[in-house]
Amino acid sequence: MNLFRRPAPSLDDLILDAPHELPSESLMPTVARPAQVFVRGQGSWLWDSEDRAYLDFSQGSAANSLGHSPQVLINALAGQSQALINPGSGLHNRAQLNLVDRLCQHTGSDQGYLLNSGAEACEAAIKLARKWGQLHRGGAYRIISASTGCHGRSFAAMAASAGAGASRFEPLLPGFSHVPFNDLPALHAAVDAQTVAIMLEPIQSEAGVIPATEHYLKGVERLCRELGILLVLDEVQTGIGRCGTLLAEQQYGVRADIVTLGKGLGGGVPLAALLARGKACCFEAGELAGTHHGNALMAAAGVAVLDTVLANGFLQHVRESGLYLGEGLARLAYRYDHGQLRGHGLMWGLTLSDDCADAVVKAALHEGLILNAPQPDCLRFTPALTVSKSNIDEMLVRLARAFARVRTAQLQCRKGIAV
Ligand SMILES: *Cc1c(COP(=O)(O)O)cnc(C)c1O
Repeated sequence: MNLFRRPAPSLDDLILDAPHELPSESLMPTVARPAQVFVRGQGSWLWDSEDRAYLDFSQGSAANSLGHSPQVLINALAGQSQALINPGSGLHNRAQLNLVDRLCQHTGSDQGYLLNSGAEACEAAIKLARKWGQLHRGGAYRIISASTGCHGRSFAAMAASAGAGASRFEPLLPGFSHVPFNDLPALHAAVDAQTVAIMLEPIQSEAGVIPATEHYLKGVERLCRELGILLVLDEVQTGIGRCGTLLAEQQYGVRADIVTLGKGLGGGVPLAALLARGKACCFEAGELAGTHHGNALMAAAGVAVLDTVLANGFLQHVRESGLYLGEGLARLAYRYDHGQLRGHGLMWGLTLSDDCADAVVKAALHEGLILNAPQPDCLRFTPALTVSKSNIDEMLVRLARAFARVRTAQLQCRKGIAV
């Protein structure tokens, strides 16, 4: 054995200049995070504590729909916090009433309810569907969802999601089954007398930005009507303009019975919503509550976001910059031999030629670009809905450098192994 031979460098060693120290040992290490600490944000840009600038094409996993610290959000939060932060969820506040009225009006829903997170909204949707099953389908309770779907990390949301590391926390909540996405016959076959609802994302995000086909989603809607069960659409990520229309269901010409919203609705503050239509509006007093449900401060943020997204020309801008981003990504993917591009509006996924997405995310961070990787071979792009063409051009330059950096590291790595 040659003691002087160094171990072959890992891809990470080759991509990053120096290993960073952990910023804190007090924080539970439940999420793998880079070492930088971020202190400032403006629009599509973020700055770390060493004043390095990063172009942010993740935006808190699509939560910061208007970018970092937009003036409308600052004003809404400042105004509301001066007037009233929280009368308590047992009392009405104007911001909450305003937001549910507007959400219902603009999404064609009959009732709405405000919560704190996407997972919570999905839990509430599951509760609502079960309540409906007790009233209208002989106590049916089972929810069918897609085997590659993701509805959050709480227990009912995890049970609906199938993956997401759920098996480590068994026993899971019973009453869920899973079928492959975009497979109508499989879905039809799975419905039984105990089934109360089908719950899907119109575009699966964690699975790698996989849109439902129009044939599929329309077929699912028809199936639900024919069999007398509910359609629940999880629009936590696709909703509030992300895909170029207020809800993604509009692009499919589909109307769900229950819709969940989250992420972009709060523009960066924790806010989610449950919307219901027609007979699905069946909650009564005492069946759903939470200390911060309808919190006035968060609701005021939601009103500011919704007003902005509904303003003249905004969604047109999302559609146009979405196409511009898609074209740019397709060109770059072709140049670097990467694969398929999928998405709508400003939600894109790019499949890479091998499982190097984590390496690209790290290399991109090094180039001052923030991205994430929902799958080992897939990059996800969810910039601010206000992103400019020059932001997109700059992102493509930085992404090209990241691709090149990973290519070089991969070659070196292979050589290292070959020596
Ligand atoms: C992020 C997400 C959730 C969970 O939302 P949290 O706010 O993280 O709880 C649920 N469904 C979809 C489609 C999501 O993208």
